[in-house]
Amino acid sequence: MSRSIYSGPVFEMARQQFVRVADHLQIHEMDRDRLLYPKRAIAVSCPIHRDDGRTEVFQGYRVQHHLTLGPTKGGTRFAPSVDIGEVAALAIWMSWKCALAGLPYGGAKGGITVDPYKLSPRELEALSRRYMQEMIPFVGPHTDVMAPDMGTNEQVMAWFMDTYSMYQGQTVNEIVTGKPISAGGTLGRREATGRGVAYLVGRALEHLGIPAGDATAIIQGFGNVGSIAAYSLAERGVKIIGVSDHTAAYYDPAALDVAELKGHITRCGQLAGFSSQSLIEPSELLVQKCDILVPAAIERVITGENATHLKCRILAEGANGPTTPEADSILHERGDEIFVLPDILCNAGGVIVSYFEWVQDLQRLFWEEAEVFDRLYRILERSFQQTITRARRERIPHRMAAMAIGVNVVQSAKRTRGLFP
Ligand code: NAD
Repeated sequence: MSRSIYSGPVFEMARQQFVRVADHLQIHEMDRDRLLYPKRAIAVSCPIHRDDGRTEVFQGYRVQHHLTLGPTKGGTRFAPSVDIGEVAALAIWMSWKCALAGLPYGGAKGGITVDPYKLSPRELEALSRRYMQEMIPFVGPHTDVMAPDMGTNEQVMAWFMDTYSMYQGQTVNEIVTGKPISAGGTLGRREATGRGVAYLVGRALEHLGIPAGDATAIIQGFGNVGSIAAYSLAERGVKIIGVSDHTAAYYDPAALDVAELKGHITRCGQLAGFSSQSLIEPSELLVQKCDILVPAAIERVITGENATHLKCRILAEGANGPTTPEADSILHERGDEIFVLPDILCNAGGVIVSYFEWVQDLQRLFWEEAEVFDRLYRILERSFQQTITRARRERIPHRMAAMAIGVNVVQSAKRTRGLFP
């Protein structure tokens, strides 16, 4: 396909990554478009009444990448950057991620182009409900299941679930995941992505022979993924020496106090104002010396410009798409210097526990927290082993190995089923 509606920097990144893997797997040209281009894309207008009496229309999207393995699954992002290309790229990455973890889903993603921090709670509720209402014809517990992502949270998922349910005339918990427990959520979902990141970092440290108690970490993004990754790493004995969010970045080689950071976030809702002593330029934070670097905010922050200057031993991608293909090439040239935990492996804890939530909702049978994490770590362990084994055997980077496993799964299902899904 030479032209598509998805053109843009984030989609181009997902496309380039796919082409590299397709070349490695020698996938026939004829089969590539079917694997890469989304099955469906939906664009909707969401009008709401603002608090000042104006009516404003926001643009919303949902992209369903493939229907070959089951329903589609993926988060909903509220951010100013959201466009159809970004959403499509995130849906494609979800497909490879679900396939690597062995989940019976295709990838999806959705979002609204909006700065959620500039909406009042009433406006946020109106916009969330309106988005779900517009999506009702296209989603369903066996069609497409939403979840949280950047700028959305448990409360937004509860509004989605309630709006869908009221249109059906009955409660349909299984329409979204990442809900509060009181609305049919599962124990462990809130912590799943961050704790999954910490589990895999622990495995990478063991692999490299670095004791967790001697290791230091820098974390970009202090939302759901970044903050929980920070607490979980600190629990394992890792010293947190740098953190940032969209308002400020802090760095202290002697260690930042995670409990104090947590208290500040609870009080102020953002990192700005935490301390004047350890402030650092946000762009400088990523290139400070540390053992573990966790990008857990936005895409394309490890680039051709800064990849040469990274001074970490482990790059643990909590965010989706933090590393550009140019940076990937540089990291590969640096050989064994940096152990990469690629996004589709590293942050898979979120979708894995979302899958558990969907299964529990469908069965109306809820698990203990210990069972959730035991099952989560078993799946992450299997994916970690498969990825490093394949990378070693085929002498390819971890990202290519993880993607190759995912692409192979989707490709073989498409081959078996035929052209429709
Ligand atoms: P969130 O909205 O809870 O937090 C995002 C954080 O990033 C906030 O602290 C925000 O201030 C910060 N941020 C935004 N722009 C920044 C910038 N330019 N520099 C530094 N910090 C910045 O979102 P989240 O759910 O934690 O998601 C973060 C990333 O993890 C996204 O890439 C998302 O797709 C990915 N992810 C999330 C989940 C999940 O379960 N929530 C699962 C898998 C992957």
